[in-house]
Amino acid sequence: MNLIKNAARRFYYKLPTRYRMGREYRALRKFLQEAQWWSTDRVAEWQLQRLQAIVRYACDNVPGYHALYKDAGIAPSDIRSLADFKRVPRVDKKLLRDNLADFTSRAIPQSQRIYVTTGGSTGEPLGFYHTRSNHVREAAFLHMSFERSGWRPDESLAILRGAFIGSEQQFWEFDRDKNQLLLSSYFLTERSYEQYIEKILAHKPRHLSAYPSSATMLAAMILSRGEAGRINFQTILLESENIYDWQREKLRAAFPNAKIFGAYGHTEQAVLATMCERSEAYHVWPFYGHAEILNATGNEAQEGESGEAIATSFWNEATPFIRYRTTDFVRKGASHCAQCGRRFQLLDAIEGRLQEFIVTKTGRYISMTALNMHSAVFDRVRQFQFYQDTAGKVVFKVMRKEGYSESDSHMIQRELCKKLGDDMELSLAFVEDIPKTSRGKHRFLEQRLELAYGD
Ligand SMILES: [Zn+2]
Repeated sequence: MNLIKNAARRFYYKLPTRYRMGREYRALRKFLQEAQWWSTDRVAEWQLQRLQAIVRYACDNVPGYHALYKDAGIAPSDIRSLADFKRVPRVDKKLLRDNLADFTSRAIPQSQRIYVTTGGSTGEPLGFYHTRSNHVREAAFLHMSFERSGWRPDESLAILRGAFIGSEQQFWEFDRDKNQLLLSSYFLTERSYEQYIEKILAHKPRHLSAYPSSATMLAAMILSRGEAGRINFQTILLESENIYDWQREKLRAAFPNAKIFGAYGHTEQAVLATMCERSEAYHVWPFYGHAEILNATGNEAQEGESGEAIATSFWNEATPFIRYRTTDFVRKGASHCAQCGRRFQLLDAIEGRLQEFIVTKTGRYISMTALNMHSAVFDRVRQFQFYQDTAGKVVFKVMRKEGYSESDSHMIQRELCKKLGDDMELSLAFVEDIPKTSRGKHRFLEQRLELAYGD
């Protein structure tokens, strides 16, 4: 039985991706191929039609939305412009989590619902429903995006992310059918470094798909040994976490020939922003979802201003997300990309979850993106993590490298205090280990405070 299964699997993965993924995938790609070059007006018109259809669908099939809109006095026919859409009430994770049955569509039979959950590395995870189409559509968008970097779906790939856990003895696995080298992000240490490198050199994967934190850890180890360029990835695809500037710098130094390509999205599939061929700004896909960036007063942020991403998915039929508070903060960029010409809203930075901010005594929120950790001051720091459980106080946990001395502590204190400001107390703590999250990510800030924004 297993033999047959294995043979079938092998045959399946021999098929080119476009056949394997099916008709819906091919049709969506064909649409995106053309639509990505549409004018601003044409994109807006398409979005408005989708939003009208989704609000109507939710009103007709999803009791939670029906009740919400009735209470707000909004009928689907009231939405005649994108400005009208802003009157639709927002929903948040708590509302959906506590009332999942009511926010699930009656139009999708139980047998077609697939239960999925978000990571929940910060706060409680959120569970909801997808259908098989979600997987196929997501692949179409991601593949279209990644191809801008030179990546191709059927080429060899190393994966350094959370899905494969392995063990200290068996930290890798080679999937022959998919041509993928799976590397555990949990066991990459100074001790296992050489074995990781050997595995990569033996299989020579053309591309790397990784958490930014894991890829940077590998880069830091490469750089500390003076082995820049020893591994030659053509592209490094980064997802699931923010990419800090200091991480990009380390990656560029360790992998001088690799194109670094980032994607920002969620399990909720309501917003997707990816880089382009020519720019490292995030381009929000206007055909994936409708994204608003709202500042603390609830108004659309200006260019250069940060705000929370409020997203509406164009493709979630089972559990629709309509004006959904992602709790992610992003910095708004230009309204389109001058480099590639796509009329996509740009994001200059993904600042991350509210739980990735440090809060000062006077209530200022400091984004982790604002703390540049790429400085000689941190040369003798192997790994670090901020820890906060009191407003105005933060602990900087340090795993020391050999040769670390008191003068390093002084320099770090001075450097960080300058950035954190006078309304912040910083203390250092030396630790032997910084545990990863259950999904194998490294967290740069453990935020124990419940932070609120704009409520
Ligand atoms: Zn562009």
